[in-house]
Amino acid sequence: MPTMPKIGLLKGLGLTLKTALTPATTQQYPHVKPDLPPRTRGVIALMEENCTVCFQCARECPDWCIYIDSHKLTVPPKEPGGRTRTRNQLDRFAIDFALCMYCGICVEVCPFDALFWSPEFEYSEYRIADLTHEKERLREWMDTVPPPPPLEVGATSPKEVEDGHKAAAKAVEEAAEAARAAAQAQQPAAPAAEGDQQQAAGAADEIDQATFDRLVAEGKSERVARAKAKAAAAKQRKQSGAQAAEPAQAEAQTAEAAGQAPAATAAPEGEAATFDQATYDRLIAEGKSERVAAAKAKAAAAKQRRQAGRDQEGEG
Ligand code: SF4
Ligand code: SF4
Repeated sequence: MPTMPKIGLLKGLGLTLKTALTPATTQQYPHVKPDLPPRTRGVIALMEENCTVCFQCARECPDWCIYIDSHKLTVPPKEPGGRTRTRNQLDRFAIDFALCMYCGICVEVCPFDALFWSPEFEYSEYRIADLTHEKERLREWMDTVPPPPPLEVGATSPKEVEDGHKAAAKAVEEAAEAARAAAQAQQPAAPAAEGDQQQAAGAADEIDQATFDRLVAEGKSERVARAKAKAAAAKQRKQSGAQAAEPAQAEAQTAEAAGQAPAATAAPEGEAATFDQATYDRLIAEGKSERVAAAKAKAAAAKQRRQAGRDQEGEG
């Protein structure tokens, strides 16, 4: 007598049937990107400017996959007579993501906020050695780090953020002051017309694009980079103003000297005998310069005097 199918078998068949009729939920990656939470641990980014080479992260990493090299750098004193200081200069900072287990300890222990999580995860490689990201590549990941979550209502900003805002505001103020000083320095050299004044006001907002790009590439915040680029532009304007003033001054001196020459040689009252006015007028009418005409008029007068002297001698 045939045995009845077991209940377990029926359950299994039912599940198979149900699954077969349910639409697939496979995500079509890479055509459709997964919707990951913003704080996903994708890759570690390095803000090199914040790193003081304290080695805390490398010491705490359970996988020993952080490699840091540095050397001591002697920094000149800030003020004359001060002591020179030494600081660590970062030469190499690399993370081997083939070994990293994404525990996040390095990010947590960094006392200077130099390491951040980025949600980027697409950095697979054909060669395992390429999974060691050097500091330049770790710096590039900083662009993908999401901004920090907003503070809770009523919470005070961290001191570092406040200090940063103050430093940025001070830098902007200094840059504006430098631009104003540069504009004022340019005014006596060339009295500004109304249009020039507008230009000077606009110049205060000009930035040195090369400096801005370099600082942004070095990881400085946009605000600090803009302030420093403004200061650099103001400095350049000041230098070019000084260079422009030099030839203008020389020209003014030359013009002054040229202006004195005819005055010294022109026919002053009571000296008609030393200056032949007719010669002077003729030469001026011929287009000769005042100085040349005055010199020739004096020579003509001297010639006339000599001739008159000879005539008197002959009569005597
Ligand atoms: S996440 Fe963990 S394993 Fe990876 S580098 Fe940082 S400390 Fe090391
Ligand atoms: S813990 Fe932070 S500051 Fe110290 S070496 Fe690591 S990244 Fe640099």
